[in-house]
This record gives sequence, C-alpha cells and structure tokens, in this order.
Amino acid sequence: MTPGRSFERPAPEPDPTADQATKDAMSNATTVSPAHSASTASTLITNIAALVTNDPSLGSPLGLVQDAAVVIEGDRIAWTGDQSKAPATDNRVDAGGRAVLPGFVDSHSHLVFAGDRTQEFNARMSGRPYSAGGIRTTVAATRAATDEELEANVTRYLAEALRQGTTTFETKSGYGLTVEDEARALRVAAAHTDEVTYLGAHIVAPEFAEDPAAYVALVTGEMLDACAPHARWIDVFCEQGAFDGDQARAILTAGRERGLHPRIHANQLSYGPGVRLAVELDAASADHCTHLTDEDVDALANSRTVATLLPGAEFSTRAEWPDARRLLDAGVTVALSTDCNPGSSFTSSVPFCIALAVRDMGMTPDEAVWSATAGGAAALRRTDIGRLTPGAYADLMLLDAPSHVHLAYRPGVPLVTGVWRRGERVL
Ligand SMILES: [Zn+2]
Repeated sequence: MTPGRSFERPAPEPDPTADQATKDAMSNATTVSPAHSASTASTLITNIAALVTNDPSLGSPLGLVQDAAVVIEGDRIAWTGDQSKAPATDNRVDAGGRAVLPGFVDSHSHLVFAGDRTQEFNARMSGRPYSAGGIRTTVAATRAATDEELEANVTRYLAEALRQGTTTFETKSGYGLTVEDEARALRVAAAHTDEVTYLGAHIVAPEFAEDPAAYVALVTGEMLDACAPHARWIDVFCEQGAFDGDQARAILTAGRERGLHPRIHANQLSYGPGVRLAVELDAASADHCTHLTDEDVDALANSRTVATLLPGAEFSTRAEWPDARRLLDAGVTVALSTDCNPGSSFTSSVPFCIALAVRDMGMTPDEAVWSATAGGAAALRRTDIGRLTPGAYADLMLLDAPSHVHLAYRPGVPLVTGVWRRGERVL
C-alpha cells in the first residue's frame, strides 16, 4: 500500500528559465471559471479507484495509486495516498470508484483566429486538390475581425477544452503578421493564460512575399518590440515554404535577447534543421517531429528539449504519423498536444489525441496519459502542474471510468465528468 504523502507544500523545483512558473496560468479565464480568491478550505476526494499522480517515486512513471484519496487545500494539492489513511478535511467528495488524474497540459495551440476552413478540409477529405490558401485564409479573416470576435473565439475554445479536461494551455499569435495584429493577438491570449507565444514567424506575411528578408527584419525588430511584453515564448515555423534554419535561428535568437524563450515548429512536413536548432538553442520544445533522422532523435535524447507530438494535424491532413515509439525508446521526453487551429487540426480534445497516439503512434495508454499531463508541463518547463503531488496546483479531472486507460479504450466518449482548476471545481 502507498503511504500518505506529506502535508508540506514544497516550492516547485526552481527552473531558471521558468520565470513565470509559479504564476497562475489561465488566471483570467473568467469565462470558464470565475476568479475566486483562493479558499483555504480543505477538500477530500476519496473512493478513487485509480489515481494518476505522475510521481515516479511511487514505482512507475504515472505514480498510480489504487483505492486512493486526494486532499486539496486552497489552490494546491496537500496530500495524496491510500484512502484509509486520509486526514480529516472540511469538505468531502466521493469519486464513486472512478479515476482521477492531473488536468491536461495542452502545450501547443493556435486559438487566436477568426474565420473557418471547412471547405479546405472538405476538399482534402474528398481527395480533391485545393488551392493553397492555407494559413493566408485565416490571416485575412483574423485581421478583419474585431477584438470582441477574437476574444469570443478564444473563450469558446477554452470552454470546450476545459470540458475535456484541459486545465493549462499555451497559445500563439501567428494569424496577424503585422505589428499591430500580432500584438493584438498576444494581448487577447494573455488575458487567458501566461503561456503565450509570439509566432510572428508563422509564415512570411503576404505583403512581404517578394522580400522575406525584410519580413524577418520586421519580426526581429519592430514587431518583436511590440510583442515581447505580452509573451513568454517565441516560436517559428521552420519548414520549406516558411522559414529556413538560418532565418529561424535569427528569429529565435532575437527573441531570446528580449527575454522570450524558444520553442519551434520543427520537422513537420519534411526533414530539416528545426529539431537540431531546437536543441542548439535549448528550446523547451520541438513540435511536430514527424520527419526525423537518427541524428535528430539522438540530439533530442541528449537534450532538455521535449518532442511535442500533435497527432490531430496528421489526422486532419491524412499525413504520416510521428513515430512516438522510436522517440520513447531513444529516451526522448515526449509531450502530446492538440495543435488546435482552424486549418490543420481543428480539435481541442486531448483525449482524442491520446486515442490516436495509442492506436497509431506506438504509445501505451500510460505513456500517452503521461505525455498529455507531465509531458505537456515539461514542454512548458513547469513543475507545478501536470502532477498531483503535494505543493502542485490542484488541477485535476474525474473520469466517468475506473481507469485512465479508458481515455484510449473508449475513444470519442465524453468521459470527463469533473474538473478542478486551482482547487475550484469548475465542471
Ligand atoms: Zn502549431
């Protein structure tokens, strides 16, 4: 049996790069959770058939505890362990023999956009060629949208994600591609999360199609000046047709000099320099990682850079799956995220991505659940989320199932029946 865990609240492990690690991500997500002041009341959740803690000291990466209980105090986890040893609390919730796990950490999304690309998807799924409007279609719609329309979209997709168990999310600019529109997207995002990423280098803005170098100068100059105050991260789409390795290095290095930490869209559509650049710059994450050489895999395995896999994109474009098994067997830290965006992956569902990863990418259910919780936290260089250990934020979900395995075993079924964020029950 598992001994009870301490009531003490150790500070999250220090991470010199995680300058906002203890800040309250999603702190202003008032549309899904009214901003309560943290209560000091304690709540016991007991009669948990299977508790995922992600505490490896409990004997497995998931740190599974059977017949478990959790104590929430204020906005933090105060205790986890065998339910028979649970301490007295102010309130009590009976989990009814269901599973409890950390809230999902969706470390890659593009939620600040307007418009719709149904026709493009429909054409692709009908086997018809479609004109390469792509990201530019969304850029035009996003520029034309009002602040209120962008805000309403973010709010809607966040509520959708919360209902599916996501308690922390990262999101990016990248559909404005002008100084004002990129800064506006980041302001909208920053009202909902601290994990905000400046992606002025999503594609070369249409106005600069004949002079990409001038666009890189804008992204690393005036646009960076306007965007840096609103973001924690800087990202670049390093891909043929977007930005090459030298341009990506210049963009990420400029961002780093302004206090933004790098992450990279790397090796999605083709082999290329993105993953090795991510490792060279100590990026928190290399995202997509679909086309990797052995050297790329070795570089990731010998780095702190997480490989974030985004199977919603391969699903929605009928592309080759990233080989999660190969990365895991090499010792790479893997995260799973949605890449929620209107073009290539219009899902906010982490459970859907878990099911794909298990069915088609060689992950076990345990690995997929770890990657969508602790893995996502690692991709954001956070140690205060993605785990249910004393001192971590009380971000957790209750499944209407006896085991986390059901997330893959019962694909497409809305199993999330309760969500707590920062200690408050929000679903
Ligand atoms: Zn993306």
